[in-house]
Amino acid sequence: MTKTTTKNRTDPVAIQEIAEKLYLEGINLPADEAIELINLHVANNYSLLTDDPIVRAEGPWLHTRRGRRIFDGVSAYSAINLGHNHPLVRDMLFHFLSHHSPTVLGRFMPDPFLGLLGKKITGMTGYDRFLPANGGVEAPEAAIKLARRWGHRVKKVRGMPEIIFFSGCFHGRTLTVTQCLGEEVALDGFDPFIPGFIRVPFGDIDALKKTVGKNTIAILIEPIQGEGGINIPPDGYLLEVSRLAKKHNVLVIYDEVQTGWGRTGKLFAWEHDGEETRPDILCVGKSLSAGFGPVAGILARNELMGLFDPGSHGSTFGGSPLASAIGLAALTAIEIEDLPAQARDKGERVMARLREIAGRSRHIREVRGKGLMTGIELKEDGPDGHDFAVRLYEEGLILKDTHRWVLRFTPPIVSSVEDLDTAVGMIEKVFAS
Ligand code: PLP
Repeated sequence: MTKTTTKNRTDPVAIQEIAEKLYLEGINLPADEAIELINLHVANNYSLLTDDPIVRAEGPWLHTRRGRRIFDGVSAYSAINLGHNHPLVRDMLFHFLSHHSPTVLGRFMPDPFLGLLGKKITGMTGYDRFLPANGGVEAPEAAIKLARRWGHRVKKVRGMPEIIFFSGCFHGRTLTVTQCLGEEVALDGFDPFIPGFIRVPFGDIDALKKTVGKNTIAILIEPIQGEGGINIPPDGYLLEVSRLAKKHNVLVIYDEVQTGWGRTGKLFAWEHDGEETRPDILCVGKSLSAGFGPVAGILARNELMGLFDPGSHGSTFGGSPLASAIGLAALTAIEIEDLPAQARDKGERVMARLREIAGRSRHIREVRGKGLMTGIELKEDGPDGHDFAVRLYEEGLILKDTHRWVLRFTPPIVSSVEDLDTAVGMIEKVFAS
């Protein structure tokens, strides 16, 4: 028998060494090399704000390769309302992985964590059933499919079923909802788009009344438009939308992928307008994973969700044991932290300070928002949102410009008051200069 000197590929010590080496290679990669690799090998669909990679994150703070500490003032687009690396979710993951739990199974195999997630999320939101998905865009996608099935089978629409969406809206980047976007760069070259969608002006109830017809099956709306520029509809508008929908036997779909999980000072933004505005389908995502991966989905009552039967919808990773464990831990943390109350209280303080800054700055037109979802609209005769985002980043704060003239400040809800004051102090300094 010949002896082999090759290490067994499943030798646990060797595997550990390789894993550690891979990890260290990543976090120790010199900044310019990391940027070069991204520029050479990754699709160019995002432009980078900095050439200094992020290598550590804790709560609201990011630490860069070159040793800077940056405040994440956009909460990774509201994916980390709980801050980066929330300890409850981290600990849950340590247990999950160290016990060799299956990370993914065919969804035809039962998994206890999915059941627990389903119970927790329906209990917290007041719906009967949860349909799990991955990234946030899959939530409105699933909601649209469900609405169409309802339109064909229950409302029995003849001809083309129609879904109404709004100017300034954002529901993600799949081909179905790309057409919702108003910006040329997001639309150009991607047509033809899927038929059956009508756009109306956001906040204009008369325009909506004129558009709802016998073929309308659903109204798809963000209660506050995030990506669109922190647009808050007029008082009473959302209630009127719900009443109009009820009158015409139309479903209301709220996309709360961004406004959900405490961001606006309620668990969901629809709650600000009372139970009558409870949507038929609620889209959730982002902080449902506390930032530990893509976890999203839709919630609905039994009659509606029952229209999805085996084979009609699904996804390999949506509702996987790993995603379910993450979601379960994130929801538990959201409850323990009482994110809505924190966003309400801290939001009042932040809003008051931002309005003071706006009063003194020649560059700010308006500050608006709810809870810790705030937008700073700039006057269009000076530097634009990107210019300010670059200046703010030099100070140590990430704020993201949207539609050129609005800066979003949506900090982690768990940020301490002192940290929020530090972040607002940076905004003050930049707008005073
Ligand atoms: N819906 C809304 C309201 C969003 O703000 C977003 C993302 O910002 C999405 C859907 C899409 O989520 P994702 O980027 O996770 O696909």
